[in-house]
Amino acid sequence: MAADATSIRKEIAANFSEINARIAKAAAKWGRGAPGIDLIAVSKRQPDELVAAALENGHRLFGENRVQEAAGKWPAFRERYQGIELHLIGPLQSNKAKEAVALFDVIETVDRVKIARALATEMQAAGRILPVYIQINTGKEPQKAGIFPEEADAFIRQCREEFGLNVVGLMCIPPVEEQPAPHFALLARIAERNGLSRLSMGMSADFETAVQFGATSVRVGTALFGLREG
Ligand SMILES: *Cc1c(COP(=O)(O)O)cnc(C)c1O
Repeated sequence: MAADATSIRKEIAANFSEINARIAKAAAKWGRGAPGIDLIAVSKRQPDELVAAALENGHRLFGENRVQEAAGKWPAFRERYQGIELHLIGPLQSNKAKEAVALFDVIETVDRVKIARALATEMQAAGRILPVYIQINTGKEPQKAGIFPEEADAFIRQCREEFGLNVVGLMCIPPVEEQPAPHFALLARIAERNGLSRLSMGMSADFETAVQFGATSVRVGTALFGLREG
């Protein structure tokens, strides 16, 4: 059933209020300042009218996991709304590095040497030195992207020293069938010993736990926009 733009906007506003309130509550419970925690609205495979409703409500921070999909929708949104900050939160192929650097404001998924090198080259060519996160495969899952925890320190150093990347933090996606807390705690430890202040962790099902363990941004999709298409 087609809902009109006003009711869609109201529903999206209510969802954002609820999630922001839950972030603030978790932050207070764990003795953290709520303003330090960013809500990244994950808009992948969501209808344009829901994303537009979030923009109309003043939200500006979004995450997309595919370069192609982001290229199809965000240039038009950027023309209509000022101040958008778009994060790449999905795996990047090196042949898409140039397009990713042009499209995104932050790359959260630096997960191997080849990508680090390609991003460094394209950022220098474009004169656009974006903040990046290193993705850590905290559960060492073979099918999942990310650097293994024991290789993280050396990789972070290499990204900084050899490639000159502006590494600001770490991100992870815990294994679905495990408690997320130990994974968030591990990510926080790796960040701390490497002098990194930003932690991108927590999704719809576990963002409050991520706040407990020091998340500085949470990536929430379905709890804001509903189930994805496709
Ligand atoms: C899809 C996605 C999310 C959002 O997941 P939800 O469960 O819908 O909140 C967060 N992070 C990454 C990396 C994703 O791909």
